[in-house]
Amino acid sequence: MRSRTQFVHAGGGADRATGAVNPPIHLSSTFAQLAPNRNRGYVYGRSANPTRTVLERALAEIEHGRTGLAFSSGLGALTTLLEQFPAGSRVVAMDDLYGGTWRLLDHHRRQFGLEVEFADLTTPLAVERALAEPADLVFVESPTNPLMKLVDLRALARAAHRGRGLLAVDNTFASPALQRPLDCGADVVLHSTTKYLSGHSDVIGGALVLAQKRLGERMRWLQNAVGAVPSPFDCFLVLRGIRTLELRMRAHGEAARAVAEVLATHRKVRAVHYPGLASHPQHRLARRQMSGFGGMLSAELRGGVPAARRFLRRVKLFTLAESLGGVESLVEHPALMTQASLPKADRAAHGITDGLLRFSCGIEDPADLADDVRTALAGV
Ligand SMILES: *Cc1c(COP(=O)(O)O)cnc(C)c1O
Repeated sequence: MRSRTQFVHAGGGADRATGAVNPPIHLSSTFAQLAPNRNRGYVYGRSANPTRTVLERALAEIEHGRTGLAFSSGLGALTTLLEQFPAGSRVVAMDDLYGGTWRLLDHHRRQFGLEVEFADLTTPLAVERALAEPADLVFVESPTNPLMKLVDLRALARAAHRGRGLLAVDNTFASPALQRPLDCGADVVLHSTTKYLSGHSDVIGGALVLAQKRLGERMRWLQNAVGAVPSPFDCFLVLRGIRTLELRMRAHGEAARAVAEVLATHRKVRAVHYPGLASHPQHRLARRQMSGFGGMLSAELRGGVPAARRFLRRVKLFTLAESLGGVESLVEHPALMTQASLPKADRAAHGITDGLLRFSCGIEDPADLADDVRTALAGV
């Protein structure tokens, strides 16, 4: 089945009891038992909920995994994943990451004795160096946040497995409409479903999808033990978002290309980071690994914070806000906003400069977004 069809049908068909084409939102914290310890598959809402079950089945299907698990946020999913790794475990993480992911890994390093190394994993040589000492967990985003760097997922999965480690990929930016890490050999996919999967900026949620059954069972146990689970209503919203994921990702990609082209040819812009541009250093890898380039991009304005602030005041269709992946366009300033939790020296070392802006291109008409950016740049 092709992705577009799969997203519409994922999770199973109409409700068996009623024929409802959408899953009922089961607002019940507990479930009647037939006899002590005999039940219909549901006992208590933290452990399992029928609305959540439909979403979790859908998550597994769309990411080509064995087990799908829904969480109350992306970081709730990451917290639960990290529970699997005892003190002394070695984690190698990409050095360009969502700020909250960096903060949580750093917290585990300080507080719980996790050994965490942040490394640039964009080249085979860098991967070889970082994994010379085997890691229990390799954790990456691709494309990364906010610099849109790519990681060769197939090569990295092989390298992680040589050292008997797991590869986990945060697939939030690409979504399964454009990239399927488990098909590339990864063991775990993580999502902030807050972003493209729900797609309308109206829910906070997370997900893990596991390739192997045993790890899936372990994570399901941890999901219940930790308890960072989503509400049934939020599960319904994420599921509704998934239905249109393929259409939306296509529109996001068209919008981002139009915006990237304006930025790439403008004299007030020093650099544009978008994997869909032939000038992106990993454009060929993007073509091989992804079926589209997505709606996210970043650009460095000449003139640092003052220029960025002027641009942000003038832009009209892009709302100044954190987050991404909704139907409406957003823009943010990583150094002052999402990556502010990184020490300044770290930010600078990783290319998150004071003139950098990150764009989440929505599904508006690409020509309107391009006009908006052009007009705002004229006033910088
Ligand atoms: C937003 C985001 C997260 C964190 O997810 P929450 O739902 O906000 O907890 C993790 N990774 C990426 C790439 C994100 O964009």
